[in-house]
Amino acid sequence: MRVIQDDGGAEPLGQLSPQDWLAAAETQKVLAALMADGAEVRFVGGCVRDSVLKRPIKDIDIATHDTPDTVMALLERAGIKVIPTGIAHGTVTAVVGKAHYEITTLREDVETFGRHARVSFTDDWTADAARRDFTMNAMFADASGRIYDPFNGLADLAAGQVRFVGDPMKRIDEDVLRLLRFFRFYAHYGRPPMDKNALIACRKLAPRLVELSGERVAGELIRLLQAPDPAEAMLVMKAEGVLAHVLPEARELGRLKVLSWLESRGLIRSGIAPDPLRRLGAILHGDEAAIRVVGDRLKLSAAQTGRLVSIAAPKIAVHDGLDHLGARRALRRIGADTFRDLVLVAWADAKSRSGVTHSHETSRWIGLLDWADAWQPVELPVRGADCLELGVPRGPGIGQALGVVDAWWEENDYRPGRAECLERLRQAIKEGGAEAPP
Ligand code: ATP
Ligand code: MG
Repeated sequence: MRVIQDDGGAEPLGQLSPQDWLAAAETQKVLAALMADGAEVRFVGGCVRDSVLKRPIKDIDIATHDTPDTVMALLERAGIKVIPTGIAHGTVTAVVGKAHYEITTLREDVETFGRHARVSFTDDWTADAARRDFTMNAMFADASGRIYDPFNGLADLAAGQVRFVGDPMKRIDEDVLRLLRFFRFYAHYGRPPMDKNALIACRKLAPRLVELSGERVAGELIRLLQAPDPAEAMLVMKAEGVLAHVLPEARELGRLKVLSWLESRGLIRSGIAPDPLRRLGAILHGDEAAIRVVGDRLKLSAAQTGRLVSIAAPKIAVHDGLDHLGARRALRRIGADTFRDLVLVAWADAKSRSGVTHSHETSRWIGLLDWADAWQPVELPVRGADCLELGVPRGPGIGQALGVVDAWWEENDYRPGRAECLERLRQAIKEGGAEAPP
């Protein structure tokens, strides 16, 4: 990125380095269609911001002077598929092959009430930038990659400053989702210190977060927790009284820093990567019922809620003192994925409490992960039907007898085959299945 000229929205301020997404045939096709009659068209938001940082981009947003009707007509004329995604507020989606482009007519806010703004179309790029949330999200790039930066987003991006466009209090008051977006963008792009005025506004307006739907809160929290190191943002949210309104169950934040470090840098290991749900589970405190309340409130799927429960309210304690037999017992009951989650969380918990990890502890934790990777599900070669055949009446006696055989089979590394297990079952029945299962 090189700086050309220091001027607001009218003149370009810099130049994107060559970008694959911009050079892609799909993008060029959409640009050619939109500009066929001479309209001015610019990329905006995340794709510009992430390109400046040389990070992979997620989605491509385009802003144009043309009204949605004209945009649809231009795209259709070029044979491009169009979906009128949000035509009422000026957005259509162009689809070329697998690529999606959100195209929005320049707008300015006329009036806002809560999350709803009355907007009018405009031809003023700076007015469009002014309704956007943060300076780093209010940058445009034209078809040649020239950057337009009306609110000094480039400088803020370079300094790791997540700064609201305009007065934070007013901008959050207009749309309280921006409060969560502030912490999300801080987790991904920010460096301390956080903007003081923004924090004051967040603290003051946090009670209004209850106005947001569970899905929106979950969407923001999960995206925040995808950052390589989300711990600082979360700790500040806790300290400023923000979490109390969206996630009061987050009482184990101390683990988050180490867990994130293990996942993203500390432990280079296939199958271990930053995982927002694991992180969410790790910071929650409560019994199964309390964790289910979190899942319901955030409108998570049954599988996602189940994962949170398995981490935050585990059925089996995983710790670095587990021997191979104990680990296998746990693996059999909870499966390798949950076992790995619990190893990472317990490791993070231990390290965050003691502050140091000795190498013999590290190798014990890694040993547990090795056992998880090597784990193959096993099935006891005898079952209830065998007990009935051997004369055990229906009832609790069956479970007791099988439990005795199972414990013996487990201690013997699951090696005894069906014949040996049947023999052991006969013996257990003879002894009355009196031994208690483990
Ligand atoms: P991501 O990489 O996560 O997609 P993004 O910056 O593209 O990040 P989006 O949610 O896709 O974020 O929104 C696109 C752009 O729309 C933002 O960059 C910002 O300019 C604007 N925007 C989105 N949500 C808001 C909001 N609640 N208030 C103001 N502007 C917003
Ligand atoms: Mg985006």
